[in-house]
Amino acid sequence: MEIHSIMSKRYGGMLQQMSHVLIDGDNVIMIDAGAEVQDVESVIGDKKVLAVLITHCHFDHVCCVEDYVEKWNADVYVKEGAEEKFSDAHKNCSVLIGENSVFQVPQKNIKYYAEKLKIADFDIDVYFTPGHAADCVCLCVEKKLFCGDLVLGGTTGRCDLYDSSYFEMEKSLAKLEGIDFDTAYPGHYDTLTKAEVLNSF
Ligand SMILES: [Zn+2]
Repeated sequence: MEIHSIMSKRYGGMLQQMSHVLIDGDNVIMIDAGAEVQDVESVIGDKKVLAVLITHCHFDHVCCVEDYVEKWNADVYVKEGAEEKFSDAHKNCSVLIGENSVFQVPQKNIKYYAEKLKIADFDIDVYFTPGHAADCVCLCVEKKLFCGDLVLGGTTGRCDLYDSSYFEMEKSLAKLEGIDFDTAYPGHYDTLTKAEVLNSF
């Protein structure tokens, strides 16, 4: 499996959202939808993105999702019920930067997470890790942990947003030690070793 991380250019690039492209032969999936289609195409050529797995439905993680559906008819995985955040600028937190961003994703493209997913030959373990938002998940593929905004930049994600919970955050962080991974790919900033993740809280 090859992994390419692409920084989002939306919102002036100021949020430094990182979306991750996973390539296995001809099969491609993505973690989060902050990267422009053309930037994804520059790493996958004319392969197709089968699915985009959203770590949580904050605007910066989903801002290009409509383009992925239009370009590749990609499936869009979210925690069940979280798709309501696509069409609600308060719930997807875009109002916090003075935007009113809403995203239209056809219901037929929306899929819900289960604890284990298999997409083509990708075996994905899904961990429900609420705290930063109620719909946060971490996704583990071949010992690579895509942790969204649970841990990033040597600290933990903020918990003062719509449906955040400090109490849930503590419980989610406690799960990390028990997950078998060697590298974490957060939703912002650089990759972290497992030791760096565990030293972040
Ligand atoms: Zn977030």
